[in-house]
Amino acid sequence: MTIETLSPALDAEALAAQKKAEHEINKLSKRLHRQVGQAISDFNMIEDGDKVMVCLSGGKDSYTMLDILLNLQQRAPIRFELVAVNLDQKQPGFPEDVLPNYLKSRGVPFHIEEQDTYSVVKRVVPEGKTTCGLCSRLRRGILYRVAQELGCSKIALGHHRDDIVTTLFLNMFFGSRMKGMPPKLVSDDGKNVVIRPLAYVREPDLVRWAEHREFPIIPCNLCGSQENLQRVQVKAMLNDWDRRFPGRIENMFTAMGNIVPSHMMDKKLFPFETIRATGAPVADGDIAFDEDEACGTPSANGAGSVIRLQQD
Ligand code: SF4
Repeated sequence: MTIETLSPALDAEALAAQKKAEHEINKLSKRLHRQVGQAISDFNMIEDGDKVMVCLSGGKDSYTMLDILLNLQQRAPIRFELVAVNLDQKQPGFPEDVLPNYLKSRGVPFHIEEQDTYSVVKRVVPEGKTTCGLCSRLRRGILYRVAQELGCSKIALGHHRDDIVTTLFLNMFFGSRMKGMPPKLVSDDGKNVVIRPLAYVREPDLVRWAEHREFPIIPCNLCGSQENLQRVQVKAMLNDWDRRFPGRIENMFTAMGNIVPSHMMDKKLFPFETIRATGAPVADGDIAFDEDEACGTPSANGAGSVIRLQQD
C-alpha cells in the first residue's frame, strides 16, 4: 500500500479527532461558564455596580477565573468592573513582564503591587521551617489594603471545588473542626467581601482549560518552599477516592450545602438540651433503629455497614 492510498484515511481520522477535541473543549467551556455563573448567582457574589479585585497569581486557577469573569462580564445583565491584581513578592526568578504583557493583551485594567515579602519571610522564619504561614498572612494583609486603595467592593480568589473539599478534610483531620472554605464571606479584618467564583469548578477542568487557552503560567515554587505536606496527603487521598469511587468528591461537596444540625453534635447549632417530645411527627426526627438509606442495606446486626466499610 502506498502513502498516497493511506493519506485520505489518515486525513479523515485526523479530521475526526480534531472535531472530537473541538467538541470536548466546547463542552468544557459551557460547563465552566455555567458553573461560575451558577456559583455567582447562588451566593449573590457579584452585584450591580461592584468593582471586583481579581487576585491573579499566574497559576492556572486565577488565569481561568479572570478569563471566565471577563466573558461573563460581557453577557451579564448587571454592570460590574474587574481589576486584576498581582502581588509581586520579589521571589527569585519571578518573571515580572509575564502578567503585565498578558493583561495588556487582554485589555484588562490591572495593578501590580510590589512588596518584598520574600525577604521578610526568609529573615524571620528559621531555616528548615515552613514559610507558608507567615507568607500567606503577609499576602492577605497587603491584598486587603490594595482592595481598599483601589475602591474594590469584592475580592475574588481562585479556589475551586477540590480546594474546598480538601480544606474540609484538613480541618477535620488536623483541627477537629468541620470547616471548609466559604464561597463568600466577609474578610477577617471586616473590611472586605471575599468571593470564590470557581467554587463549583473541578480542578481537572481548570487544568484542561489552562492548557487549551495556553495561559503563560508562572511556576508556583519560586520561593523554594515545599507545598504543605498535610495538604499534599489529603489531596492524594481524595484523588485516589475519585479514581476508585467516581462521584464521591461531588457527593461530599454537595453535602457541605446540606447540613442537618440535629444529626451532628454541635450544641451551638442545635438546642439538644432543651428538646422535648411533643407527640407530633418531626421531619428529620430520629429514625431510631433503622439505618439511614445512604448507609447501605439495613440489617438487624449492622452487617451491611461492615461490608461497605471493608469495600471502601
Ligand atoms: S509556597 Fe511560597 S509563595 Fe506560596 S505561600 Fe508558601 S512560602 Fe508563600
